[in-house]
Amino acid sequence: MMAPERERDLPEKAGDLTDQGERMYRLICDTSENAFLYYSFQSRTYVTLGRWRRFFPFDICREEDWVKLEMTVDEPYVEPLRHVLFPEREGKKNARVECMLRSKKIWLEFSATVFCDEKGEPVDKVIRVTDRTRYRQQDEELTYMAFYDSLTGLYNRNYFVRLLGEFVRNAKEHQERISVLVVDIDDFHKVNDGLGIIVGDELVQQFGAVLKEFASEKVIVCHLNSDVYCMAIYEPYGEETEEVIYQKIKERIRHPFTLSGGQELTITVSVGVAQYPHAASSALELINCAEIVMMKSKSSGKNAIQYFDAPMLREFLQNVQIENKLKEAVFHQNFSLHYQPQFYTVSKRLRGMEALIRWQDRDHHMISPALFIPIAEKNGSIIPIGNWVMEQSIKQYHIWKEKYALPIILSINISAIQYMKEEFVEVLLGLLEKYRVNPSEIELEITESVLIEDFEKVAEKLRVLREHGIRVSLDDFGTGFSSLSYLKRLPIDTLKIDKSFIDTVLTDAATRVITETIINMARTLGFETVAEGVEQEQQYKYLYAVGCNVIQGYYLGRPQTAQQIEELLKRA
Ligand code: C2E
Ligand code: CA
Ligand code: CA
Repeated sequence: MMAPERERDLPEKAGDLTDQGERMYRLICDTSENAFLYYSFQSRTYVTLGRWRRFFPFDICREEDWVKLEMTVDEPYVEPLRHVLFPEREGKKNARVECMLRSKKIWLEFSATVFCDEKGEPVDKVIRVTDRTRYRQQDEELTYMAFYDSLTGLYNRNYFVRLLGEFVRNAKEHQERISVLVVDIDDFHKVNDGLGIIVGDELVQQFGAVLKEFASEKVIVCHLNSDVYCMAIYEPYGEETEEVIYQKIKERIRHPFTLSGGQELTITVSVGVAQYPHAASSALELINCAEIVMMKSKSSGKNAIQYFDAPMLREFLQNVQIENKLKEAVFHQNFSLHYQPQFYTVSKRLRGMEALIRWQDRDHHMISPALFIPIAEKNGSIIPIGNWVMEQSIKQYHIWKEKYALPIILSINISAIQYMKEEFVEVLLGLLEKYRVNPSEIELEITESVLIEDFEKVAEKLRVLREHGIRVSLDDFGTGFSSLSYLKRLPIDTLKIDKSFIDTVLTDAATRVITETIINMARTLGFETVAEGVEQEQQYKYLYAVGCNVIQGYYLGRPQTAQQIEELLKRA
């Protein structure tokens, strides 16, 4: 193929003007990257020029040699090439085709130009041959990139959306169904952070290969981004339903992935499912819905499949809205504090007050902390919010102490996220010093969620707080995974019995048994008990009778402004 260029193609002598002209043309041709075939219709002569021998091991000298040229190209290109080599037969002056050689490694472009005389009779023909191999490869790469994700070899997001769009059009026409699954590797960030992104990529690749096994005419699979994949099943039934596929994925990932560093890694996945036409009627909406469901499935414990329903979408949209407004509120510190008094059950004397955050959004709607605190915990803004609450309430408490010198306790709700921060204790002690507040007058309310992460570490931190004299209260007791047995090992001062117990304590005998057990147990362990959400006199009387120490609730006092609390302090 790469035969040396032959000297004999050059003219022997470079004398007169025509010889010089010919020599010039030849040199130009020979320094070009292309090969040329010249044909004279009158003399029926052929000349090959330029890089001819680079592409073909033969010359074209006579009519029968044309066929040699046709023989070099791969089967499907033989016929098209024939048309290009003889455009004059179809009354054309130009023709062009790209062919792959039989070797399958080289792409050549053949382009023919026929020159005619005044009468329109063909006189000369030039066929130019150009190597297109490099461009073809680039083309293929670009085509690949347009449809596939280079890491996993699965379809990319754009192409998947197009294919899903076709699914949707079909399903509309034939009134059929589609299931869209968004599959996400649980705790992937831990792999990326702990083992590096190269290992992370490997995992993404290997899990992608697992999902690829499900691809069929009815099932399309794509890599959406990072550790998120999407599958669409057309008319799911039999072996190809989302449930069956999910079970098979689970079965497959029970075995660990072996990564190149030799690490073995077992993963779980969360899956969100949205169906056409139930959830949405366009490809993008279906993917969005499935993504929302997947996130929901993550927030409710991971390693599960969850299905789309309308209330879920509403809740999600509401949360997104709140999250956007919350950013603004944090920036402008658009919050205020209410304080709910707590009273000793026996004496009805004021024990202290719990600081409760209030947020009125820019449209003057009050948004409940029960709604926005979990969102703030997710996006991290609980840290500035929590710091603001601590500073404001401690400052207010200092003002009250200066004015009234009463033995009261300020309770502050602390989110698990705040509590986990390294600098938390330091920030708090700094504030107490700044406002000259005695640590023993501050009570931190924490929920059981802080205990889930690492019981021993949390218990140790509680001990540190208490060594500084700060009181610790376990909030919402009875709602979480609360077990009475771990109470023994917890360094706390106060137990807050959740409102849900108080709600039914008068009507439900079982609740009474539990409530009394909690109170007795707490007394044995030396904890103070606070009942939350006491709304009625009857509830108060009952709690008095069973020995609950402190009462908090609408019955004796609603959450109120600092100004209203002052009235209470004046009278105390
Ligand atoms: P929580 O800590 O259990 O606070 C008690 C909630 O019960 C308050 O709701 C209070 O207004 C309400 N409540 C008190 N007594 C009664 C009653 O007799 N009947 C009824 N129906 N409700 C009563 P709120 O203020 O809406 O707070 C909701 C939750 O938001 C709080 O529950 C707490 O978990 C969280 N939160 C409030 N402020 C803060 C804060 O500053 N920081 C953090 N991290 N969380 C906060
Ligand atoms: Ca509380
Ligand atoms: Ca509570």
